[in-house]
Amino acid sequence: MNLLELTYAQLLAQFQRRYARGAFHAAALYRAFYTQTDCDPARLQAFAASPELAQRVRDDLETQRPRIVDRRSQEDVTKLLFRLADGLAVETVVVPMTHHTTVCVSCQVGCAMGCRLCETGRMGLRRSLTASEIVAQVHAVKLDLGFPVRNVVFMGMGEPLDNFDAVIQAIRVLEDQRGLSIAKRRITVSTCGRVDGIRRLAALDWPQLKLAVSLNAADDETRAFLMPINRRFDLATLKQALQDYPLARGNVLLMEYVVIGGVNDRVADAQRLATYLAGLPARLNLIAYNPRRESPFAAPSPESLQRFHQALVERKIFVRLRRSKGAGIRAACGQLGAAINL
Ligand code: SF4
Repeated sequence: MNLLELTYAQLLAQFQRRYARGAFHAAALYRAFYTQTDCDPARLQAFAASPELAQRVRDDLETQRPRIVDRRSQEDVTKLLFRLADGLAVETVVVPMTHHTTVCVSCQVGCAMGCRLCETGRMGLRRSLTASEIVAQVHAVKLDLGFPVRNVVFMGMGEPLDNFDAVIQAIRVLEDQRGLSIAKRRITVSTCGRVDGIRRLAALDWPQLKLAVSLNAADDETRAFLMPINRRFDLATLKQALQDYPLARGNVLLMEYVVIGGVNDRVADAQRLATYLAGLPARLNLIAYNPRRESPFAAPSPESLQRFHQALVERKIFVRLRRSKGAGIRAACGQLGAAINL
């Protein structure tokens, strides 16, 4: 049994099937695992009268977890390197806000989507993470490092909708109120535009979940150049899937647009973007491009960024100019993977 990949209800079912025991022991173990670093059943009060059961549970528990092998911080942002059981590694970014912490998790080692503006995309896909390897990142940040984690964003390495089943199971575990208790409205799944995955997500009918989409261009030619996924699902197909997506009242789509100097930062691009966003319940985040290693692209000039932003504001677009923190430790958007030696 691996507690990192089980909801409480699933653990309870295992207890009933394996040991013919119920909620008393399962709840104590689950609570201990998600609130304390030590969850040896033999040391839990609930198991005091059943040492044999404690031993059996201990034997059945999978205790190997991804290990933090490197930690770097800059401007409050901390980047962690996790070593997985098979020797591969992923990065996780911890971003403290005023009263809580956001964890940016990885869901794959590398990524198959090949976006040109992204460091992870250069690695190709090595493999997808399991649900337990995803949850382990949040568990370690909260329990081993002591951060008050409140939000989780799937914006690290990998395309979440390319690892659909594991990501969905990880969300079920993350939101379990007996465990990490991170509500769906505090979880963001970010996609490059996998329309097949967006439709599968829509079918789950989780209207509180936050969905982010990396747009980066509002014309098919530029977008297909930057993001090969656009050849499979063009902008019109993407927009239709987003219009059909069920959202709770007050929830909006988060559209991410990385502004790249000379590529997608003209006023005409902003006009096209405003037209594309019309009719979508969306908030737009503009992020100035962080050039990656040997990048063929440049950051936008402050003037062009300002012009671009202003053109959107004039068209009444709900837009925020976001500063991407952590560039110095390569923890900013699109930079993960640079430190990984595969
Ligand atoms: S931007 Fe996201 S989807 Fe695109 S290559 Fe990078 S990790 Fe993959």
